[in-house]
Amino acid sequence: MAQEDVFKKIVSHCKEYGFVFPSSDIYDGLGAVYDYGQNGVELKNNIKQYWWQSMVLLHENIVGIDSAIFMHPTIWKASGHVDAFNDPLIDNRDSKKRYRADVLIEEQIAKYEEKIDKEVAKARKRFGEAFDEAQFRSTNARVLEQQAKRDALHQRYADAMNAMDLNELKQIILDEEIVCPISGTRNWTDVRQFNLMFKTEVGSTAEGASTIYLRPETAQGIFVNYLNVQKTGRMKVPFGIAQIGKAFRNEIVARQFIFRMREFEQMEMQFFVKPGTELDWFNKWKAYRLAWHEALGFGEENYRYHDHEKLAHYANAATDIEFHMPFGFKEVEGIHSRTNFDLSQHAKFSGRKIEYFDPELNESYTPYVIETSIGVDRMFLSVMCHAYQEEKLEGGDSRVVLKLPAALAPVKLAVLPLVKKDGLPEKAHEIMQDLKFHFNCKYEEKDSIGKRYRRQDAIGTPFCITIDHDTLQDNCVTLRDRDTMEQTRVPISELRSLIEDKVSITSLLKKLQ
Ligand code: ATP
Repeated sequence: MAQEDVFKKIVSHCKEYGFVFPSSDIYDGLGAVYDYGQNGVELKNNIKQYWWQSMVLLHENIVGIDSAIFMHPTIWKASGHVDAFNDPLIDNRDSKKRYRADVLIEEQIAKYEEKIDKEVAKARKRFGEAFDEAQFRSTNARVLEQQAKRDALHQRYADAMNAMDLNELKQIILDEEIVCPISGTRNWTDVRQFNLMFKTEVGSTAEGASTIYLRPETAQGIFVNYLNVQKTGRMKVPFGIAQIGKAFRNEIVARQFIFRMREFEQMEMQFFVKPGTELDWFNKWKAYRLAWHEALGFGEENYRYHDHEKLAHYANAATDIEFHMPFGFKEVEGIHSRTNFDLSQHAKFSGRKIEYFDPELNESYTPYVIETSIGVDRMFLSVMCHAYQEEKLEGGDSRVVLKLPAALAPVKLAVLPLVKKDGLPEKAHEIMQDLKFHFNCKYEEKDSIGKRYRRQDAIGTPFCITIDHDTLQDNCVTLRDRDTMEQTRVPISELRSLIEDKVSITSLLKKLQ
């Protein structure tokens, strides 16, 4: 099945099974805004818990905060967002569709890379065991030709972005003969800058309302609380502050479902370090964050780092962790070494002294910062994309199963009485009554057992138990495993110990130690 079709199926699966709905659905939706349903919210909460606990519980020197979405407007002047949080946009005059100029060019670069990968795959098939990929890449004429085109375009693009040369960005689009995917034409407008922050007003007009912004990132809430937390928490450098919360960006192009939203959630951690040690810490956090992703068991081959060549003026290192989505490797998380830019800017704009007195050095300095920043929704999407599977079963049957890591699954245990009579529902409720304090259980009595298993597979429930007539005599139930579909008879008294460890966030956290 084509990857595009797989992705469409995942999107409709998310709606059909109560994971993600378009916002304002009965009014035909609102662009790039989504709601999480009854199963989605559980999965999302589990992702957030996994992140929060890995940061705040496992690190003695990291604490959390929850800062407000509304902040003093000068914060966004200081951070540079008012002047520079822009994307270059371009319109196609025929389709009237709007695009990000940088994204159009990056997609063109990816096309050259795909051509090279195809040549390599063809050659691998032809040569079999004897295939030497490195040699092929460095000698094959067709590969070298595509590589040269790719590199030249990449260099030209990087130069244009660094200089924010909007005319040059348009010229690249024309020279590369990039067409609008809708109209198929090259009838482009000039490239313009577009600020991504949403504005609103605080206070009534009578009082003199002032313009404020919906935060486009949670990080600034951490920077402006640096002094509060450092002092009240008696924190010693190096230390970190973590936060999970909503962020808002008026994205030019809303595509790919919850990958790019206008209202989304971030999990950010700012780690304050001694100047000069930041690149060591950057490398440590880079490794730790990749380990966090890999502990989910989706396969190392599905992740890669993308080190930035174009650095923001205040950064001295930056990388993305990319995940292999059905539409290619895409950024899920960014790790940035932001120097002392943010704290210094806030010191300048607020007039406060924002420093740390280092008792070992007996001197004060402005700490440097390493930031790890991950989108909850993008993480959710990567989990869904990896978990969604269509399986052919023996006997010609098939099933859709979400192979979610058990610790992230919305429901951990489905409790299913074989029939709706003979005291089986009562027995099932008695079991639930005990287990519901330990993990999320769901009771279901409607439809045949087979259908109920399929429904649980479709939402990724790792375990089901069936209560039958024998249960009333022997106090045992049938425990079914989602992935193997194996069924075993187990005593009710052992259920908790059999399941709890496997479905707890702790099971993931232990892999990080
Ligand atoms: P992109 O290049 O895809 O626009 P970015 O580099 O602007 O992303 P950051 O500012 O580094 O993103 O934000 C950190 C994380 O927040 C991203 O890695 C991503 O997971 C998430 N994120 C950013 N913008 C969005 C969005 N519009 N919708 C959903 N998640 C987002």
